[in-house]
Amino acid sequence: MKALALLSGGLDSILAARVIMEQGVEVIGVCFVTPFFGPDNARSAAKTLGIKLIEHDFTEEYFAMMKSPRYGFGGNMNPCIDCHGLMLKTAHGLLEKFDASFLITGEVLGERPMSQTRGGLNAVLKLSADRDLVLRPLSAKLLDPTKPEREGWVDREKLYDFSGRGRKRQEELAQKFGIKKYPQPAGGCLLTEEKYSQRLKELIAHEGLNRRDAELLSGGRHFRLDQRTKMVVGRNRSENQRLLDEASQGDMIIRPAEGIKGPVGIIRGDISQDLLQTAGKILARYCDRLEDQPVDINIYHNDKKESLTVMKPHEEFVLKWQI
Ligand code: SF4
Repeated sequence: MKALALLSGGLDSILAARVIMEQGVEVIGVCFVTPFFGPDNARSAAKTLGIKLIEHDFTEEYFAMMKSPRYGFGGNMNPCIDCHGLMLKTAHGLLEKFDASFLITGEVLGERPMSQTRGGLNAVLKLSADRDLVLRPLSAKLLDPTKPEREGWVDREKLYDFSGRGRKRQEELAQKFGIKKYPQPAGGCLLTEEKYSQRLKELIAHEGLNRRDAELLSGGRHFRLDQRTKMVVGRNRSENQRLLDEASQGDMIIRPAEGIKGPVGIIRGDISQDLLQTAGKILARYCDRLEDQPVDINIYHNDKKESLTVMKPHEEFVLKWQI
């Protein structure tokens, strides 16, 4: 008997997989990848569990769902119920390929206000492809028996009745299994972060949702120059390097001229000469020159270099453009 475990990498998902492994079922981990969450935590969880991990990028389906999630968003841009539902539906489509018979999730009844109330768990099942194949080992005894339990593929008696927000029982179980390393709950999803969500909303309002721009939203200072043009400025060395790495064909790289300390910026979109002056001033604000002093700026675009000199503006100037 084989099962696919949705593995976020959080403690609940690790325990759910482990509980089923204890019953002699072969478990394969599945984690989902979008610009909003990646495989890092799941990779380390799979290592802890000693299981194989499938990393499945479903960004296109995710973006389509984000346009109008049936159960709406949580506190930020996190459509948790629809997100879980889509993960289960997608994982169901992988069962045959991996010769697995059912799905495991680490959901715990009452642990989260939106997606893990009894209504939330049922809503998630409605969105999944086959609710009878979704086993939640940590709360199974509080839920209707699923096919794996009824058919005796797993022993329901050895499953759990965890509920609520407390973590004590999970921690005890982790200790029993000798699991010491796991990330904090709800970590790793950018959609739960206020600042990221604000930028994402702004991006959707101006340019729609697209992978390339969504990937640029975490980190940096963001400026809207016009409806279709944005500028992102690094806040430190690693963000500067990341911007350089992520710059793609058509992006402009803007940085101070040699001898001036300051950040790297990316300008994305069509930009007029007037706006280029504005972008130069925004960058100058973060260069090591005094206010109202000239700053030389270089702009690189499609193998061409352009230079301009701007006066370093006061803070109010950049705040007008900042997202
Ligand atoms: S926190 Fe993020 S990854 Fe987790 S269910 Fe919500 S939207 Fe999905």
